[in-house]
Amino acid sequence: MPETDLVAEMEAEIRAKPVFLSDVNAMVARAARLVPMQDGLFEKISVCNETYVTRFGVRLRGRMWTFEGWRAVHSNHPSPAKGGIRYAPDVGVDEVEALAALMTYKCALLGLPFGGSKGALKIKPGDWNDYELERITRRFAQELTRQNFLSSSLNVPAPDVGTNEKTMVWIADEHRRLKPQDINAEACVTGKPLAAGGIEGRSEATGRGVQFALREFFAHPKDVERCGLSGGLDGLRVIVQGFGNVGYHAAKFLSEDGCRIVAVIEHNGAIENSGGLDIDALYNHFAAYRTFEEFAGGQFAKSSSDLLTTPCDILIPAAREGVITGENAHAIAARVIVEAANGPITFEADAILRDRGVVIIPDLFANAGGVTVSYFEWVKNIAHMPFGLMERRRRQYENTLLTSTLERTLNTKFPDTIANLGGGREIDLVRSGLEEKMRSTYAQMSHLWNNAEGIDDLRTAAYVIALTRIKGIYE
Ligand code: GLU
Repeated sequence: MPETDLVAEMEAEIRAKPVFLSDVNAMVARAARLVPMQDGLFEKISVCNETYVTRFGVRLRGRMWTFEGWRAVHSNHPSPAKGGIRYAPDVGVDEVEALAALMTYKCALLGLPFGGSKGALKIKPGDWNDYELERITRRFAQELTRQNFLSSSLNVPAPDVGTNEKTMVWIADEHRRLKPQDINAEACVTGKPLAAGGIEGRSEATGRGVQFALREFFAHPKDVERCGLSGGLDGLRVIVQGFGNVGYHAAKFLSEDGCRIVAVIEHNGAIENSGGLDIDALYNHFAAYRTFEEFAGGQFAKSSSDLLTTPCDILIPAAREGVITGENAHAIAARVIVEAANGPITFEADAILRDRGVVIIPDLFANAGGVTVSYFEWVKNIAHMPFGLMERRRRQYENTLLTSTLERTLNTKFPDTIANLGGGREIDLVRSGLEEKMRSTYAQMSHLWNNAEGIDDLRTAAYVIALTRIKGIYE
C-alpha cells in the first residue's frame, strides 16, 4: 500500500486549506489507497517534477509591461510532457501545478504516451488587441524554448482557457524561427490551425469528447440506473456553465443528440429556455455581443451563479475549477455532472455529491477529447504525412520494400492510431479514433466501478487505472 501517512497528511492539508492543488492531490490519494505500490512510489508519482517561472517585459503602448508566466512539468515518464497554456488574470502557480497533475493522470488513463504539463500567463486577453497578444505570446514562446519547456520531444503545449489556435500558431512560428534545423519544430505545439499543421476536428475535440463520454455512460444501463435515470440522452435537460470553445461544442453536439439545453451560464449572466435553446443562434449572438442579454430565444438572468442549482438532468461545468463547492453541492439538482472543465468540483463537494447519489463523469476522462486529438495532431506532424495517405500507402505497398522504415516504425509505435483507423477523410479518422478511445476507456472505468471492491465512483475508477499504468513504468 502507498504511504498511509502521506495520504493522511494530504487529507489534513485539504481540510485546512481547500485549494485546487490539494483537492487534486486528495482525489488521487483516495484512489491510491486501492493501488498496491512499493514504498515511496506514490510520493514520486504525485509530486510535480519541476515548475519554470518567467517574468519578462514587452514594450507596448509607449511603456514597459511585465508579464508573469509558468510552465509546470508534473511528469515526464513518457516524453514529451503535454498540456495546455492558459491565459487568465487570476492564475497562479498552484493552479498550474494542479492542472499539470491532471494532465499526467488524463494521459495515463487514455493510454496516450505523454507526461503531464501545463502553462499559464497572468494576463486578461480581452485587455489586449491581437497585435499586442502576438508580441506577448512570441516573447513567452522565446522564454519557454530557451529553457526547453517548449519542444516536440520534451514539452508540447496546446490551447486552454483564454488561448486558441491563433495563440498556438504564434508559438509554433516563434519556435520554428529559433530552431530552424529542427525538422519536427511544428510539432512543438498542438491545436494549430489546419493550414499551419493542425488537424481536422481539434477545435471541436473537447466538446466532442464530452458528447462521447455521455453517450458511453448512457450505453451502460446499470450505470445510468445508479443515478436514478433510465433510457438514453434523448429529451434530457442539460445546463452548461461556460460558453467558450468547450461549452459551446458540448452544448451543440448534445442538442444534436436530442438533449434540451435548458440553460447556459456565463460570468456576466445566464440564458434559460425550458423548451431548449437554439445553440447556434445563441453562439452567433454571444460572439457578436459577448453577453446573452437581448437574445430573443430565451429569458436572460443577470445573476447567474444560483442557476447551477436549477432543476435539470445533466449539469456540465465547462469553464474553470472550483465552481461546485461545499456551499452549493447540497443544492445541485442534476443527477449527472460531466466535468468538461478541469477541476470544477472541489474535494469537499465531490464527497457530498457522491453521498447524494449524483454520478460524476470526472474531468480526466470527460475532457480528454482535447488531448486525445492533440495526440493525433502530434503524430501527424512528426510523421510528416496526413493520416489517410499513410494508411492508403501502407495498404498499397504492404510487404514490399516501398513501405518505408518510418511508416513501419509508426505502425509499431502507434498501432491504434495509424494502423486501425483505415484510410479516409481526416475528420472521420479523428472522430472514429476519438470515439474508440472514449469507448474503450469508459468500458474499463465502468467495469471497475461495478466490480472492484472499494471503487464506488467513476473518478476513483479513473484514477486507479491511471495510477496502475504509471506505477507499471517504475516497477
Ligand atoms: N487544455 C486541454 C486539456 O486540459 C488540452 C491539452 C492538450 O491538448 O495538450 O486537456
